[in-house]
Amino acid sequence: MEHPLHIYNSISRKIEQFIPLNPPFVGLYVCGPTVYSEPHLGHVRMAITFDVLYRYLLHLGYKVRYVRNITDVGHLEDEITGQGEDRITKKARIEQLEPMEIVQRYKLAFQEALKELNTLPPSIEPQASGHIIEQQEMIRQILANGYAYEVNGSVYFDIDTYNKNYTYGKLSGRRIEDMLVNTRELEGQAEKRNPLDFALWKKASPEHIMRWPSEWSEGFPGWHLECSAMGTKYLGKTFDIHGGGMDLIFPHHDCEIAQSVAANGKEHVRYWMHNNMITIDGQKMARSLNNFITLRQLFSGEHEKLERPYGPMTIRFFILQAHYRSTLDFSNDALQAAEKALMRLMNTLVQVEEIKPVGKRSTTVFDDLYKKFFNSLNDDLNTAKAIAVLFDISDKVASIVNGKEKIIEKKLTGLKDFLKKAVKDILGLKSEEKEASNSSREQALLDIIINLRHEARKNKDFAVSDSLRDKLAAIGIVLKDTKEGTTWEKL
Ligand code: ZN
Repeated sequence: MEHPLHIYNSISRKIEQFIPLNPPFVGLYVCGPTVYSEPHLGHVRMAITFDVLYRYLLHLGYKVRYVRNITDVGHLEDEITGQGEDRITKKARIEQLEPMEIVQRYKLAFQEALKELNTLPPSIEPQASGHIIEQQEMIRQILANGYAYEVNGSVYFDIDTYNKNYTYGKLSGRRIEDMLVNTRELEGQAEKRNPLDFALWKKASPEHIMRWPSEWSEGFPGWHLECSAMGTKYLGKTFDIHGGGMDLIFPHHDCEIAQSVAANGKEHVRYWMHNNMITIDGQKMARSLNNFITLRQLFSGEHEKLERPYGPMTIRFFILQAHYRSTLDFSNDALQAAEKALMRLMNTLVQVEEIKPVGKRSTTVFDDLYKKFFNSLNDDLNTAKAIAVLFDISDKVASIVNGKEKIIEKKLTGLKDFLKKAVKDILGLKSEEKEASNSSREQALLDIIINLRHEARKNKDFAVSDSLRDKLAAIGIVLKDTKEGTTWEKL
């Protein structure tokens, strides 16, 4: 018997069986990026973790609505105190662009990078700036229920009143006294009844560009509010799974829970899932440490920490080789090992196609391994264990290829089906070789032509050598004769 899907619920701190609220439907909300800079390694783990969850839920037969938002307003520089400049506006000011030009640029960069990593697009990708009305409506609801107050055109969440009926900080497990130690006396703090109260609506200062009219002031919504409003709008007042990076637990998700409960009077989310972070050579990723690697740099190899470029599937495989809740350290060695392992796995898929079934009895069986694979995923989405099982299968396939073991036709069909399902559909892996072999084939072809031209020139057959050069130029390939030999370049 397979045991059913269990996931670690960050709010209960226990592994629990996953039972959807309204099967076969499953609502999944994941906090997406704030689109003000190039997508980087930190985004990738979130996107790939929840992509595999999404794919696996689909495999289990659920009808999943996967919502992953795009933050394009209200995410201020200091997340803890909710102070500072809006991240999008700041970038727009530096680059002398409209904030929405920044949003469009990095939203597309993010979507393109995720496509290369073979993640499925979410069912809905809502933007915060497109849901101002819903956010304002939620503020009215929270005010009407008595959990917020207005001061000088801003509206703050009232934590003391909330704590009379509920508990703020349940997800992070932080105690109010400890949180208070971390709040500094900053501009705007004086308006709050409790220093921990956070903004639902902020009155815009004169230089703040992104602003909307409201009965409180011309202003903008607090960062946490969009996820409460859009989650409720698309998935309902209570929904199944909410995911995001561990760094979002506090304050973002604790605030989100408080807002949703205060507005809707109901439990907000049944299962909270958080992926761990990626470190680089044992260090936290930070712009100041110069180890902030963007996806574009990973794919091109242009970063001083990178020995060479790495393909998107290598990165995907590298991330899936670790359980999503464990830390993952990024290094050139680890990536090169992942690349090799991925090639070995992909080679198994090729080998399986070449196997000839024989006889009436197989000498090797795979059924226990199939079960073990699915049980690993059912065990809190343990892709690390699941991939280890795939390598046990690789070993068995190798023994069949070497003639040490035999497999009958029916079992071979089952093996091919399993591998397609496991590797391609659920883990979302594919071969990286196709592109590489195309470019190496191109290089080999040009080497042949360049050699022919050298031969012609040696024989003083300039008509032929010039013709080869001109014909290549006509299709956009320019030959350059240097001391070291002839090189080529695409125009
Ligand atoms: Zn969020």
